Amino acid sequence: MYNKKILITSALPYIHGILHIGNLVGSLLPADVYYKYMKLLNRDVIFICGSDSHGTMFEVSAKKAGIPTADYVYDMHEKNKKILECFGLEFTYYGITNSENNKKITYEIFKKLDKNGYIFEKNSEMFYCEDCKLYLADRWVEGKCAHCGGLARGDQCDDCTKILDTNEILNPICIHCGRKNITRKKLKNLYLDLPKIWAHKKLDVWLNSNKMDSFPLAVTKGYLNKGLKARAISRSGTNWGFHIPKQGFEEQVFYVWFDAPIGYVGITKDWCDISGEKLENWWKTDKVKLVQFLGKDNIFFHSIFFPCILKGADENYNLVNKLKGYAFLLGGKTKFSKSRGVGLNNEVALETFPADYWRFYLIYKLPEKTDTLFSWEDFQRIINKELIDNFGNLVHRVKTLIKTKNIIDLPQVNIEKSTLYEKIKNNLDNELLLSKVLKDILNECAEANKFMQDKAPWKSGDSNDKFTQSKKEGSLREAKNKEVLKELYIKIQIISKLISPIIPNAIKRLESGENKPLFEKIT
Ligand SMILES: [Zn+2]
Ligand SMILES: [Zn+2]
Repeated sequence: MYNKKILITSALPYIHGILHIGNLVGSLLPADVYYKYMKLLNRDVIFICGSDSHGTMFEVSAKKAGIPTADYVYDMHEKNKKILECFGLEFTYYGITNSENNKKITYEIFKKLDKNGYIFEKNSEMFYCEDCKLYLADRWVEGKCAHCGGLARGDQCDDCTKILDTNEILNPICIHCGRKNITRKKLKNLYLDLPKIWAHKKLDVWLNSNKMDSFPLAVTKGYLNKGLKARAISRSGTNWGFHIPKQGFEEQVFYVWFDAPIGYVGITKDWCDISGEKLENWWKTDKVKLVQFLGKDNIFFHSIFFPCILKGADENYNLVNKLKGYAFLLGGKTKFSKSRGVGLNNEVALETFPADYWRFYLIYKLPEKTDTLFSWEDFQRIINKELIDNFGNLVHRVKTLIKTKNIIDLPQVNIEKSTLYEKIKNNLDNELLLSKVLKDILNECAEANKFMQDKAPWKSGDSNDKFTQSKKEGSLREAKNKEVLKELYIKIQIISKLISPIIPNAIKRLESGENKPLFEKIT
């Protein structure tokens, strides 16, 4: 009996455009699939997510669209929410970081951090556009990354994912005006003292006992080995966000990465207000396993930054128990990125193929350890070979034979007693490798296909049939066919149930008794 409740979060999608396939594969889809499996295993589980709605990119995009920032944000929030639904994603609650609860909790945490001595003021150098007369916060400035030569976008390099200071961005361009008349000016900022919190709260001990996956652990240790630095959490030159509740800083707003992870708590509170649950029972108790899904460019913020915020506030918040950090899905040589316009947007993806095709393919190719390359040829090959030939045809053939042979005394199937169920449960409670879950299911399909091929239960038991010599032999053959088909029936029941978190729509149709083939081949 599993005795912990499970709180799942997915990196909050940054909704300043229509989400693309990279957003799905990088955190939302695996979190959704895991959530569906946990429900299948009858676990007490919630999945909390929402739109990351702050940050300077929204002002950039709203300005381009010629509408107020808030209108732009809520319009994109609704649009993307619909698209996520169309992909079969379901949440216990899908909120938004720009909420009253999140603001309240962000302020509480900030004030505690300040009181505990983890916030300090410092003059730091900022980019300043002499033409616009504006400080250029984060994404209002772009340039060349000093480390890899890639595209540095404000505070982070899009290519090597390094977190950047102003002196690490070469040839800066102002996004407001597109010009390069940029100087560096000193400005008073608030800093979160990460090294102090990390040491005081013995977060090294926490990290070493956390059993984090090797990939995010290596990334985290990489940051730690280079030495933690305090990070600015205040932003000027932007009005969109939570204004800072501290004297002398009221004109500034919080850095988006300060209130976005707190958004996991804030959005949970939004759900609590509706459901009557208590926030403490999900965020401040050791009876909960916190499982967070995110892309590799967000690992720093979840394995270092957010734990520091929570521990530094001394409010007994839970830290992550299982952190799933995924590598990138690459389309060509660069990662899918909506802000750079690289990648397949989800609206287009859904117009091209049904959601289940995408869900199946993306879990099959889930970049659990290294970057994975997307190509249409590969998509077509995997869908035709694995989803349709291996799984879909098996189910369709068995169902059709059962119908034509009029077998009605079909056995009750106890899925929980199957070895496949045990195998999947073990995987999900330990290493949590979803692509392996799918491959185990597909191996089971392949074995069932081979079994069917060997036993050939379609061969008639009719005495005129060339396979049988006599009437007696014929009815023996029929009885045998029936046994084989019953065995196959059990197999496809187990397989269908256990693959349902990955392709929920097809399985719903199957369970409703639809007789058509579940899928159409890609030609
Ligand atoms: Zn770089
Ligand atoms: Zn400018």
